Amino acid sequence: MHRVIIIGSGCAGLTAAIYAARANLSPLVIDGHEPGGQLTLTTMVENFPGFPEGILGPELIENMRKQAQKFGAQFKGGAITDVDLSKRPFKVVAGKETFECQSLIVAAGASARLLGLEAERKLIGHGVSTCATCDGFFFRGKEIAVVGGGDSAMEEGLFLTKFASRVHILHRRSEFRASKIMLDRARKNEKIRFVTPVVVEDVLDTAKNVVEGIKLRNLETKESSVLPVEGLFIAIGHEPNTQIFRGKLEMDSNGYLVTKEGPGTNVPGVFAAGDVQDHRYRQAVTAAGSGCMAAMEAEKFLEANSH
Ligand code: NAP
Repeated sequence: MHRVIIIGSGCAGLTAAIYAARANLSPLVIDGHEPGGQLTLTTMVENFPGFPEGILGPELIENMRKQAQKFGAQFKGGAITDVDLSKRPFKVVAGKETFECQSLIVAAGASARLLGLEAERKLIGHGVSTCATCDGFFFRGKEIAVVGGGDSAMEEGLFLTKFASRVHILHRRSEFRASKIMLDRARKNEKIRFVTPVVVEDVLDTAKNVVEGIKLRNLETKESSVLPVEGLFIAIGHEPNTQIFRGKLEMDSNGYLVTKEGPGTNVPGVFAAGDVQDHRYRQAVTAAGSGCMAAMEAEKFLEANSH
């Protein structure tokens, strides 16, 4: 029986683990299917306070993990396959193993949707990015592309015009899912050029480990071409990792967990932190902050409910 189990080992889960461990709750952290979370997919992180020279995403995560371990957090590899939150102790199933806990922190994160190209995975952190706020700065004066046709693509495209010399928004349809206001704003920006209806066929050049261009296919003319850009931002949405909580925890229409009074969910004793409950900010520092809040609330809950 664990006092606290934390699902997820990204920024939110690890911060929750540091706080819970320092509160002598001996938390068990279950890594999840992307150990370390989205920071492990980035290179330099320049906006996490305390690192004036920046820090590599994987290094930042490794440091947090060591910090949690130092205070007694235990880690377990593997992904959660089921949960029973109908009564306490809660049951958390990871394959053949079942764990029990008095309180649960869900920090399972969200995964950026990817196009599914081999080159895209290989070049993440080397010109391909899923986060303009994180990586836009590295493209000062460069020509780049954003793929997607929703509000995220418009928002990222607009943000990137602060740095890039030109931003090509690539979308598979000529109609946009984005709200009119965001679309109009993007259309009015002189640095933004729309390219539709196109699909990204390949990202060049994996052999050199940098982005030099994007191979596009026009869906109307069926012609392929190469757009010479130095960066590609994928903005085709995120998927919160909440499938196993369907029908068990309250979530919004996009599948993000609904929190109230800070990190509380609709089940007393179950808390949510990080991107699994936040599609708005999605920053390492906000995830860390909510992880801290979840651990503090779990501690309070355990104090009030231990017999
Ligand atoms: P979204 O609305 O689901 O849009 C995703 C876009 O990516 C769509 O245009 C979609 O094309 C395209 N797409 C999806 N899979 C693709 C693939 N495999 N290949 C190529 N293109 C693909 O996602 P989002 O833009 O992240 O927005 C999510 C939610 O957050 C929305 O409710 C949005 O309004 C909200 N949001 C709001 C703001 C804001 O108001 N400031 C900012 C960001 C997000 P199709 O259109 O052809 O399906």
